[in-house]
Amino acid sequence: MAERTPIIAGNWKMHKTPAETEAFLKDLKSAIPQKPDVEVVVAPTSVCLAAAATAAKGSPIRIAAQNCHWEDQGAFTGEVSSPMLKDIGCSHVIIGHSERRQYFGETDESVNKKTKAALAHGLTPIICVGETLPEREAGKIQAVIGTQVEKGLQDLDPKASFVVAYEPVWAIGTGKTATPQQAEEVHQLIRDLLKQTFGQDTAGQTRILYGGSVKPDNIKDLMAQSNIDGGLIGGASLKVDSFTALVRYRE
Ligand code: PEP
Repeated sequence: MAERTPIIAGNWKMHKTPAETEAFLKDLKSAIPQKPDVEVVVAPTSVCLAAAATAAKGSPIRIAAQNCHWEDQGAFTGEVSSPMLKDIGCSHVIIGHSERRQYFGETDESVNKKTKAALAHGLTPIICVGETLPEREAGKIQAVIGTQVEKGLQDLDPKASFVVAYEPVWAIGTGKTATPQQAEEVHQLIRDLLKQTFGQDTAGQTRILYGGSVKPDNIKDLMAQSNIDGGLIGGASLKVDSFTALVRYRE
């Protein structure tokens, strides 16, 4: 089994101004090791990306956008493209977060197009999948996750470097974390789906993150699962103290 470096990624959603972003990153830089044993990613809003990229320079902190358009440029008012994100200093982009699916009409098809655009411009996509509570209660986890993975990752180059985030919708921002066993079950399913589609090498190398009310007090148990390779974290990524504790979860 390939060694997979864990990723601790903070999704700030619609929080923080550029000045707050700069202050946060200054503090985070001095709070985490210069060579952390995890990949540290922070995803501020679009208007804060430039400030974030500048503030993170010379540190191990990587910057992610929360969304991108699939076209490089054009008449798409309000949108931002992958080459623009790359140019401004992003290395990652979150694609298909459940809030984007729920409130902004994102579909597996748009997720697929955005993922391909991100990869074409050298960004690492963090592709989000996850079931709602009614879907879980109706026993549809396999079908829902299967479709999201199949369609969202359709026709990707098996050699491409992408990340999948399993985020059960009922656990996001609710304080209800999936138990480590519940999460591991779905992570194993996702890894099996990756193996069927892309082969053993890709399945063994791809980082699968868990997201849904991850906090400093539950991360260790989640990370102890063999198919959980990191966290995509909302609420607990907004304070330097708690995000630092998540980055340093192994200590
Ligand atoms: C998220 O925003 O992706 C998320 C998982 O949020 P929270 O950690 O607040 O549940």
